Amino acid sequence: MKIIMLGAPGAGKGTQAKMIAEKFAIPHISTGDIFRANIKNNTPLGQEAKKYMDEGKLVPDELTVKILLDRVAQDDCKNGYVLDGFPRTIPQAEVLDQELTKLNDQIDYAIDVDVPDENIVKRMSGRRACLTCGATYHIEHIPPKQEGICDKCGSELVQRDDDKEETVLNRLKVYHDQTQPLIDYYTKKNILKTVDGTVDMKDVFAAITAILE
Ligand code: ADP
Ligand code: ADP
Ligand code: ZN
Repeated sequence: MKIIMLGAPGAGKGTQAKMIAEKFAIPHISTGDIFRANIKNNTPLGQEAKKYMDEGKLVPDELTVKILLDRVAQDDCKNGYVLDGFPRTIPQAEVLDQELTKLNDQIDYAIDVDVPDENIVKRMSGRRACLTCGATYHIEHIPPKQEGICDKCGSELVQRDDDKEETVLNRLKVYHDQTQPLIDYYTKKNILKTVDGTVDMKDVFAAITAILE
């Protein structure tokens, strides 16, 4: 099963993608996580991506597409995957489709986690992330067992550089301009499914599971 997660920054794509990946035993692939791991390790890719991410802009398509296609070509992706944060532009979606078509393959579902802009800024200010294992928490809604420490790997939790209010507002604008057109794109392909992302994460997951099963 090949799944794409759509939705505004902070809609809960990553939270849901991790649960989907676990339930269906497929890899969770987040281009944001890949970039952040590269920034943490100070690789040339990380240095390049950081310039855009810190301003809330998208990393250029050419670079992002290459990273993603390399990742989905790996062995563990044979039985499917859940993409979180890719595609984010129409050209990215088109390249992915072209590559899959060559393999006689296709995306099965594009799941739009729908959360209005008003809720987003509040959510992002409470987000805490583990840069070691990619786990995400929320100081009010989804707190770790021990404050500031990742439940899964024991690393320190941080607020992402791009989760400051000003950058979040830029990211929302970029989302509406460049990513939201994908809703139409996947609607036309008859694979778009929309779920209400404002309810409790368990209820969002139940709605997604009902679609996938
Ligand atoms: P969020 O979880 O808030 O949606 P992500 O972790 O997916 O954020 O992405 C963080 C940043 O990484 C984006 O603001 C963008 O700069 C960059 N990025 C991630 N995925 C892509 C992509 N598919 N195309 C371009 N830039 C991307
Ligand atoms: P995205 O990957 O779309 O940027 P995340 O999954 O990182 O979003 O979620 C953004 C923030 O909102 C995180 O702090 C996360 O813990 C929290 N969150 C996720 N789902 C919900 C939910 N259903 N209700 C409340 N908070 C949530
Ligand atoms: Zn962790």
